Amino acid sequence: MTKRPNLDFVFKIPRSCNGCTACCSGALSANIHGLRMSRGTPCHFRQEGGCAIYENRPQLCKDFRCTWLDNRAMPEWMWPKKSNVIVMYRRVDDLPYYSVVETEEKMSAQTLSWLVQWALRCKLNRVYCVEGTTEIIGSEEFKQAFANKNRPKKETNESNTGVQPAGGVDGAPASN
Ligand code: SF4
Ligand code: SF4
Repeated sequence: MTKRPNLDFVFKIPRSCNGCTACCSGALSANIHGLRMSRGTPCHFRQEGGCAIYENRPQLCKDFRCTWLDNRAMPEWMWPKKSNVIVMYRRVDDLPYYSVVETEEKMSAQTLSWLVQWALRCKLNRVYCVEGTTEIIGSEEFKQAFANKNRPKKETNESNTGVQPAGGVDGAPASN
């Protein structure tokens, strides 16, 4: 019987953005060197295939990694540039959840179906920001914590700092 090759190493090879700029293209929002990126308004520094100020991009861009980059459970075809969705692993009040944000392009029904099945398998709280609406799925504790975090500033007198989700959920941009 022929011994099957051990392909474990394949799963240890880090993925790279490889020309994707989905998180810089206006699906997420952030203040980039004083310029606002928000839904429908891509980062001022985004250029075809990458970042015009790559060496000098803000720390939040350097730190940001979408789940596709780090989680091999997500198939290759879920590459954000092709799937039109950015998935991010997040925490609110120490409660983990996945934030799923559609890019400016619509994700396919196949992609949405895969994400729903995957989330069910993971049994994690999740927030979908799809077609301009936000849906929160998970425990009551999580829903409450998420609602408190995203309450409009005028209600809480707190300022939202750093990177925010464009369209309502939390997020952050980057590129490498
Ligand atoms: S980190 Fe941003 S640029 Fe890189 S693959 Fe993820 S969405 Fe695309
Ligand atoms: S990495 Fe940051 S600065 Fe560069 S294009 Fe993306 S959001 Fe803009």
